[in-house]
Amino acid sequence: MATTNTLPFDQMPGWVWFNGKLVSNPDAMIHVLTHGLHYASAVFEGERAYNGVIFKSNEHSERLKRSAYILDFEIPFSVEEINAAKDLVIEKNSLPNAYIRAISWRGSEQLGVSAMNNKIHLAIACWEWPSYFDPAQRAKGIRLCLADFRRPDPRTAPALAKASCLYGICTIEKHRAERLGYADAMMLDWQGRVAECTGANMFFIKDGKIHTPTPDCFLDGITRQTVIELAKRRNIEVIERRIMPEELSSFSECFITGTAAEVTAVSEIADWRFTPGAITNQLAQDYTAETLAKKDKAAAA
Ligand code: PMP
Repeated sequence: MATTNTLPFDQMPGWVWFNGKLVSNPDAMIHVLTHGLHYASAVFEGERAYNGVIFKSNEHSERLKRSAYILDFEIPFSVEEINAAKDLVIEKNSLPNAYIRAISWRGSEQLGVSAMNNKIHLAIACWEWPSYFDPAQRAKGIRLCLADFRRPDPRTAPALAKASCLYGICTIEKHRAERLGYADAMMLDWQGRVAECTGANMFFIKDGKIHTPTPDCFLDGITRQTVIELAKRRNIEVIERRIMPEELSSFSECFITGTAAEVTAVSEIADWRFTPGAITNQLAQDYTAETLAKKDKAAAA
């Protein structure tokens, strides 16, 4: 993971927005008997600011609220308040190009499976994070292995929320991938279909058309939705469908999308090979342009 942070996250200088107040980063602490820690009753967002403007900030705040509803809690701040808090955090930290992390969790009033009386907290932090993957590897296309764990059946987990409880298997798979020298892992879903990576959605290209798995048991990423719109603007057909791993040999290009990963070409998934090509490069460029265009729109408003 490429990051410019050299200090542990809890020792970084700067400010965190914590339940409506700005506190210095090392003071943004919670108690060990926090429900969110014991039972993963937490939802979060990962966002990026480009030249001082958070890309799709409103969509991320709405998804945060929606994820909380799925986990049966309500964040005590409106979408507008969350948007303003995120803007304040990047401004106060003087980080116009930043990764922003908003997290909401159940507090420490009660500790057991039931959490009816727990306070709901919201914190927003930001830091500098230029590229999710090693830039040299990214230029050639990253290498993925095949994960053992599968994305869960949506009847067994809150699969469509960006919920902390879903990331246990992602961390295990990311570690396994990194130990084997891969950048990340491709996860199948509970039915054995191609699903996504540990923190990014997947796209494949065949005969000038884009194929991507239907997000019925994993996150329909905001970057994914943006890239689909960008492809359609260029009259590239996008087919959302069930994709089985046996089909991977028929695709020429592959790329992944996510707020952190942006648009990143893939050169290998286990024994399958891909050559980053014209469509991947075009969409990566279009995505960069789209993230920067927002600044002009915001300035004009
Ligand atoms: N899937 C998972 C598991 C993720 O963690 C992410 C990153 N949030 C994505 C997909 C991509 O989502 P987005 O484009 O909204 O960042």
